[in-house]
Amino acid sequence: MRVVLMGPPGAGKGTQASRLVETFGMTHLSSGDIFRAEKASGSDLGQKLADYMTRGELVPDEIVVEMMAKAITNVDGGLLLDGFPRTVAQAEALDKTLEQADAPLDAVVVITADDEAIVDRITGRRSCPKCGKGFHVKFMPSEKGGYCDACDGEIELTQRGDDKEETVRQRLSAYKAQTEPVIDYYRKSDDVEVVEVDGMQSPEAVTKDMVAALEKLQG
Ligand code: ADP
Ligand code: ADP
Ligand code: ZN
Repeated sequence: MRVVLMGPPGAGKGTQASRLVETFGMTHLSSGDIFRAEKASGSDLGQKLADYMTRGELVPDEIVVEMMAKAITNVDGGLLLDGFPRTVAQAEALDKTLEQADAPLDAVVVITADDEAIVDRITGRRSCPKCGKGFHVKFMPSEKGGYCDACDGEIELTQRGDDKEETVRQRLSAYKAQTEPVIDYYRKSDDVEVVEVDGMQSPEAVTKDMVAALEKLQG
């Protein structure tokens, strides 16, 4: 099964993706994670990505499409795309990549969330730099306070540099202007099913809805 996970920043894409990939045997590819890894490598490309990311602006399509096509081509079998595509041009490029691989998309799952909740979720987001586990200071706290409970409290949780209120508002406006049209692009397609899940529920309730939606798609 090949699925695109969409939704505004903070909707819960990463949280849900990491809970679902094992159950459904999919590889989780997050464009944001791929870009942050490139940035951490200290390459020229990474520096270029960082210029856009710290401002909360979208990275230009040519760069995104090339990097994501490479990552997707390396995946065999089920795929859960998170954060890509974010523009109609990226969606068109993805169609081509998947067509060449004879591996079309099955569905697009959109997680919805209110603007005000988004700011609270993003500013409270923390993650473990060692194992990648995600937390929220209020909504999904670590049992070990500011330290990762999956790593026995030995690793201090960190905050992303772009998870600040000003940057979140910029990312949200980029989502509305450039990414929401991608949902309509898929709604118009005959081959792809678009499913909406209410992201304002508890993380467990969202997972339950997502599992039900994906099971239905799997048939
Ligand atoms: P995205 O990948 O869509 O940007 P994340 O999965 O990283 O979003 O979630 C953003 C923040 O909100 C994280 O700190 C996460 O722990 C928290 N979170 C995720 N889902 C929920 C939820 N259903 N209710 C409350 N907080 C949530
Ligand atoms: P979130 O899910 O919390 O919105 P991501 O980790 O997906 O954040 O993305 C972080 C940043 O990386 C974005 O603000 C943008 O600068 C860049 N980015 C990620 N994916 C894309 C994409 N498909 N197209 C353009 N820019 C992207
Ligand atoms: Zn950890």
